[in-house]
Amino acid sequence: MNINIGWLYPDLMNTYGDRGNIIALGYWLKKMGIEPVINKISVNEPADLIPKMDIIFMGGAQDKQQEIVNKDLKNNKGKYLKEAIISGIPGLYVCGAYQFLGKYYKEADGNIIDGIGIFDVYTESPGMNIPRCIGNIVIESKLFSGTQLLGFENHGGRTYLADKKQAFANIIKGNGNNGEDGTEGFFYKNSIGSYMHGPILPKNPEVALFLIKKAVDRKYGKSVKLKKLNDKWENKAREFVLSNL
Ligand code: GLN
Repeated sequence: MNINIGWLYPDLMNTYGDRGNIIALGYWLKKMGIEPVINKISVNEPADLIPKMDIIFMGGAQDKQQEIVNKDLKNNKGKYLKEAIISGIPGLYVCGAYQFLGKYYKEADGNIIDGIGIFDVYTESPGMNIPRCIGNIVIESKLFSGTQLLGFENHGGRTYLADKKQAFANIIKGNGNNGEDGTEGFFYKNSIGSYMHGPILPKNPEVALFLIKKAVDRKYGKSVKLKKLNDKWENKAREFVLSNL
């Protein structure tokens, strides 16, 4: 068995340890006896690789890199990505990547970066003089009820949801989508949009397992039983950080 991981724009969209998510997916897949195949898909790779992936990941970036990626997404990749998400390919989109899935992201200087509009959200920066949302963040998601998830956020943009029920999680500590409405991220089909760097998957193994399970179900059928993870140390590390926040 193998799982194709599509890592979108690793050279451009990769901040605050986001590549740790790829390492975590590879680590857990190997422990389960499944071969992880990492496919880097950036500006020079063809867009039609996207629908061949079993899991898609894209990290965050500074505004400058987002402007470059914006141009490339318009060049077919955005269309393929939209179709991939609709078809249920599980995915994780962090911060700048999450902003791309919405309608648009308005930068601090007023410049608009278009989104692919698959999530019914929009993002606006409140301007240069308003502080960014920075710090450790704790959330609770109905997908993982009973567990507090831990991450780190650093974003200027504030994201607003048409329907707050589509949020990935509720905020326990931190800002999340906009620092006002208590929501964090967005969940649609099998795709998670989130402001959680950290990186999110090494810190929260259940989220990694969720993506792997969805990918294996889609590719090999629901009857495949996955080996149970020994995530004792990850949980201990998370408990320690949570108890200090
Ligand atoms: N540049 C975007 C913002 O500041 C996204 C930041 C990020 O991905 N960390 O909101």
